[in-house]
Amino acid sequence: MRRRADAKSFYLSRPWLSLRYATLHKYGRRCMACGTTDGRMHVDHIRPRSRYPQLELDPNNVQILCGPCNLGKSNVFETDWRCLEDAIAPMQLPPPRVTFDEVYVNLEFLKLRDFDSQ
Ligand SMILES: [Zn+2]
Repeated sequence: MRRRADAKSFYLSRPWLSLRYATLHKYGRRCMACGTTDGRMHVDHIRPRSRYPQLELDPNNVQILCGPCNLGKSNVFETDWRCLEDAIAPMQLPPPRVTFDEVYVNLEFLKLRDFDSQ
C-alpha cells in the first residue's frame, strides 16, 4: 500500500506534471511505439521508476505511449521508442528475472497513471 501511495503522490506532484506536460508538448500526443493517436496517451518512463528512481524526472527518460503499449511494456522492457521512430525497431529482450509480483505492482502503477492522466 505504501508503494501505491508513493506512486500516486509522485504522479500528482508538480515536478512530474510539469515534465509530463513538457513531454506531450515536445512530442505531441501520438504513441511512439504503434503510432496511434486514439485514446489517452501515457508519458512513460523508458527506464522504469521501480528500478531507476534517480531517472524519474529525467527528460531523457520519458516517451509517449498509448495505454495498451504502456501496459505491454510494463517494467519488463526498456525499449526507447524515441530514437526508433524512423528506423526498424530491434526487439529488446526483457531482463532475465522479473517476478509476477513485480509485473503486478507495475500494472497497479499504470492504473494510477491512467487515473491521473485524465
Ligand atoms: Zn501504442
